[in-house]
Amino acid sequence: MSTMSLRKRLSRNGHEQLVVCNDESTGLFSIIAIHDTTLGPALGGCRMRPYDTMEEALEDVLRLSRGMTYKASLAGINLGGGKAVIIGDSKTDKHEGLFRMFGQYVDSLGGRYITAEDLGTGVQDMSWVMKETEHVVGGPAQKGGSGDPSPYTALGVYEGILATLQVINGTDSLKGISVAVQGVGHVGKVLVKHLVENGAKVFIADIEPSRIEALCETFPSIEVVSNEEILGLDVDIYSPCALGAVIDDTTIDDLKVKAIVGSANNQLKEDRHGEALYKREILYAPDYCVNAGGLISVYYEVLGKHEPRVVESAVYKIRDSLKSIYDMAMKENMSTSQAADCLAIKRIQNAREKMPYKQLYRSGRDL
Ligand code: NAD
Repeated sequence: MSTMSLRKRLSRNGHEQLVVCNDESTGLFSIIAIHDTTLGPALGGCRMRPYDTMEEALEDVLRLSRGMTYKASLAGINLGGGKAVIIGDSKTDKHEGLFRMFGQYVDSLGGRYITAEDLGTGVQDMSWVMKETEHVVGGPAQKGGSGDPSPYTALGVYEGILATLQVINGTDSLKGISVAVQGVGHVGKVLVKHLVENGAKVFIADIEPSRIEALCETFPSIEVVSNEEILGLDVDIYSPCALGAVIDDTTIDDLKVKAIVGSANNQLKEDRHGEALYKREILYAPDYCVNAGGLISVYYEVLGKHEPRVVESAVYKIRDSLKSIYDMAMKENMSTSQAADCLAIKRIQNAREKMPYKQLYRSGRDL
């Protein structure tokens, strides 16, 4: 790739910095992308995958880091967006040296990038990273981390469902409301608990039978359906809490719901599917707005103020963010996904207007 095309690539979405990390002795080959630090240090997980090409890895890290900037901006927290990818097989290539070397690279950025677990990396890997840097979050509580963020993510999705009901029904009551939850893992199972306890009729699907059994034992009113059925159910809300890219040209035609509110990242296969949902009058709660609870949780860890009540009250504000998105979409006659992007970008632009020129985040700057 020529230097010009790399520059164009970074400029297209305003990426600040790309760090390619290479160490023969440990086998580490990784890319860290810092998208934008106007609001604060770039935070985002470290993904490990055996990418076939450098191009694939680069595309992933650029796209995901930008998504983190938007998510933090919309959540009203002072973080920027970053992401890291380690190129390798998470089943066979992991060892302490690899993650300690990655930790050294993270540390060398002096707090401009804060890492965390992501797909292909876990608690053990992050505890190796922690031996080399303090710029890592989401670790176990006994090691000074804020623990599993999923309950906060689930709470945010639940608040998103209530805000959505307020728009479609004029009340946020769950009495008589039916919700189809796809995926009852860390986030989905807590969301189901909130929904059932507050009177909703819940349908679930998961490819892992043990997850379904455990939940049905606790909440016998739940109805289990197959993964093929869940998308076409005639219910009020579809809540994707498993995989991304569930909304595509085919599935849009099958949907009978009034709204989509779930935790899965990147639910729209392509941006244009946001407009397609809008045309079908299905209200879509942008995923990166309603699934920000986990990010809000680690933000309070970065601030050194991680107390459940404080984090919860910040997560409740997801309801207000979503309402602003719905209001803007209605007023401007645009899809909710477009409105979310506009609002996320606007907060960063407003912050920049107060600066004579763009300010990179550096250690020591107030959050
Ligand atoms: P998880 O791995 O704990 O749970 C996912 C569940 O989905 C599992 O029970 C799995 O068996 C099921 N599943 C997988 N493929 C499926 C399929 N094709 N059909 C139906 N079920 C399927 O993950 P999680 O932490 O609960 O996260 C769920 C989603 O939310 C993911 O997309 C994740 O990226 C996103 N998310 C999670 C958090 C968080 O705090 N955990 C934060 C933001 C976004």
